[in-house]
Amino acid sequence: MADSSFQTVIGLEVHAQLLTASKIFCSCSTSFGSDPNTQVCPVCLGLPGVLPVLNARVAEFAFRTALGLGCDILPVSQFARKNYFYPDLPKGYQISQYELPVAVGGGVQVFSGGVSRTIRLTRIHLEEDAGKLIHGGIQGDTGASYVDLNRTGVPLLEIVSEPEITSPEEAKDYLMGLRDILVYLEVCDGNMEQGSFRCDANVSLRPRGQKDLGVRTELKNMNSFRNVQKALEFEVTRQEALLRQGESIVQETRLFDPQRGVTLSMRRKEEAHDYRYFPDPDLVPLEADPAWIDGIRRGLPELPAGKRRRFTGEYGIPEYAAAVLTASRDLADYFEAAAAASSSPKEVSNWIMGELLREMKGGESTFRECSVPPEQLASLLGLIDEGKINRKM
Ligand code: ADP
Ligand code: MG
Ligand code: ZN
Repeated sequence: MADSSFQTVIGLEVHAQLLTASKIFCSCSTSFGSDPNTQVCPVCLGLPGVLPVLNARVAEFAFRTALGLGCDILPVSQFARKNYFYPDLPKGYQISQYELPVAVGGGVQVFSGGVSRTIRLTRIHLEEDAGKLIHGGIQGDTGASYVDLNRTGVPLLEIVSEPEITSPEEAKDYLMGLRDILVYLEVCDGNMEQGSFRCDANVSLRPRGQKDLGVRTELKNMNSFRNVQKALEFEVTRQEALLRQGESIVQETRLFDPQRGVTLSMRRKEEAHDYRYFPDPDLVPLEADPAWIDGIRRGLPELPAGKRRRFTGEYGIPEYAAAVLTASRDLADYFEAAAAASSSPKEVSNWIMGELLREMKGGESTFRECSVPPEQLASLLGLIDEGKINRKM
């Protein structure tokens, strides 16, 4: 970790796969794990002469996320071509957004190290995913590489933070908080291992007190929250050692190797102008119709930060407990159902956080199927309260 003479600056780019049934510009399925190249059509294969058409549900999910994150939705956003060659990108460009993203501003309230803080967002924008390359690893084969285009054209929402995260741990907490919000909004399944919630982490150091940002590196290939934190910790240490020797940091993209716990140089970082962005002439601008946006706003669920505030007020539980209990909608609903049936919400909270979570091995997402229904937990606690059984029993 950087000591007092250097300050760590982190900014994160998250790619969230939107939970739509079909792709962003065609009607191919987005389901995961099918045989390679079975969910493709002339549009997502990038064949000449075809036209993309925006999936309305994708726009709705982007707006819903923008509202949930408190962003300002642009009245008109625009798709742009980001040109680069990649074997799993058949068109030779990716349809993304550049000058006019879906939304700007907003923030994520992060509960980290016992304090609550808002990390501001720069922008959120839509883009299409690329396919997947498979190097070797297919039975009886060694040298060849394969391309699976099922993922090509799957909708992604890129969420870019301001460079104001101050430690690897805070970065992890930001990601967990953002993931929870997206899952609450039901726009993303948040599965990091399957790649539906991915993160590129930008990190730099600067002498404490210096206003300008230092030279950053961008880290890729981290498929768990723990690995994001570990990769950043390694990188902070590496950069600090270089700076102390009076050397400079090269702006580059580095890959995290989870086996060895190190980051390795992958390529020099390209600049935006290298991509020759220009508005995609095949797609009309996306208008954020105010009536549509209002309807989406009315349908927003209560989000983690709001629930946390309400839980501390309504049930008198401490903020850290409220943070744990609101990490998933399932768990929050379970707590509220048990609290409603009990005379002591605080006891309910203690038992869920202690005994129940331990028994369930952190599987909060399965609280809907918890074998102890909330009412029974409440009546069990009632028996303890009445002295009919003791806590151990
Ligand atoms: P690009 O899209 O080329 O990666 P951006 O300027 O959009 O570049 O920045 C991407 C991310 O990098 C943002 O989250 C931003 O906050 C972060 N970032 C930019 N400069 C720095 C820096 N010097 N140190 C740490 N993070 C940075
Ligand atoms: Mg980047
Ligand atoms: Zn298709």
